[in-house]
Amino acid sequence: MSIKLVVLTENRPHERRVALVPQVASKLSALGLDIWIQQDAGLASRIPNQAYLDASATPPLQIAASLPELLQNAHIVLAVQPPAAETLKLLAPGTIVLCFVYAQREPELVKLLRDLQLTCFAMELVPRISRAQAMDALSSQAALAGYYGALLGSTQLARILPMMTTAVGSIRPAKCLVMGLGVAGLQALATARRLGAVTEGYDVRPDTKEQAESLGAKFVDTGVDGRGEGGYARELTAEEQQKIQAVLTKHIQQADLIITTAAIPGRPSPKLISKAQVDGMKNGAVIVDLAADGGGNCEYSVPGETVQIGQVTIAAPFNVPSLLAEHASELYAKNLLNLIGLFIKDAAINLDWDDEILAKTVLTHQGEIKNAAAKTLVEG
Ligand code: NAD
Repeated sequence: MSIKLVVLTENRPHERRVALVPQVASKLSALGLDIWIQQDAGLASRIPNQAYLDASATPPLQIAASLPELLQNAHIVLAVQPPAAETLKLLAPGTIVLCFVYAQREPELVKLLRDLQLTCFAMELVPRISRAQAMDALSSQAALAGYYGALLGSTQLARILPMMTTAVGSIRPAKCLVMGLGVAGLQALATARRLGAVTEGYDVRPDTKEQAESLGAKFVDTGVDGRGEGGYARELTAEEQQKIQAVLTKHIQQADLIITTAAIPGRPSPKLISKAQVDGMKNGAVIVDLAADGGGNCEYSVPGETVQIGQVTIAAPFNVPSLLAEHASELYAKNLLNLIGLFIKDAAINLDWDDEILAKTVLTHQGEIKNAAAKTLVEG
């Protein structure tokens, strides 16, 4: 019996991505999968149903409008956002679901996944190890978000980024400060520099200094080491925050464009720019807050909106990768393909829990919450 893999249509607000694109479908089918696509799954990414039907796959992809038909005998279900409860309830125990979950935001959903005995791999849990890089959807999506942040900022500014020499004199290049130098921040620095800005970068992890400098940016050194576990940042003490603010204020207030990307796993976004600092910024300056999904990095940010505070514009869009749905879907689909490749051998599902990547990415399996942090959160 072949393995049936189903791709769902996303139904959450602000979500335009799809978990599989036609060019990746042929590689998935080569693993021995029979692929079914929910009708219109690709439309928000500008992929019509016919493009899936035309994908070179054996057997050819099938499209279904009815959920019961689509999900009947499904072995693997792919989505970007967590599927709706009604959808999950149609799945047989043991079905494998791959999507982003973020258990801290979705405790009821985690309980449902547990109680329905679904095997859920939560894409945000893929470990940050070399072997898992091709499965790391957080990174693939963050890189696109960082790129977009620089472009969005440049279009919100009433000035240009590069130096320009004209008959009536020279225009000085814009100053761009990127705060938070993870995957998104480094891509934002690289993009702003390519557009001609003079760039500066800041992060609480001192090892980002070298990375920022390799992209032609100056590093703002605050003397505080905020390294936490697993290569991530930790929450800072009030004293550390004061020390940082004393150094940063000057850089914030000299910038034309600031892009913020700071995040701490499982916590609200740290506030890096205070109201008072915004009040002292240059007329016409722009802040692009890429941490809106976690509440934002600027005290004035209104997640999901662009606001004007005095002469400063603050844009805090939700779900930025979704705005680049074509490429975001393609990269996400490749991340899924590589993860699925870990547990399909000779056209059969074989979940090897000795594989570190599978063991760390699994959220629920056989009626249990397998991720320790999610288990504590949901079960106490
Ligand atoms: P993230 O989205 O969790 O956070 C973005 C950045 O914000 C981080 O660089 C973090 O240090 C910074 N930050 C947090 N609090 C801050 C504060 N108060 N002030 C300033 N900056 C603050 O980060 P990410 O992009 O997911 O990357 C996290 C880590 O994982 C990095 O060390 C990255 O290099 C590493 N990583 C490793 C791999 C791999 O080895 N396969 C892949 C991707 C990322």
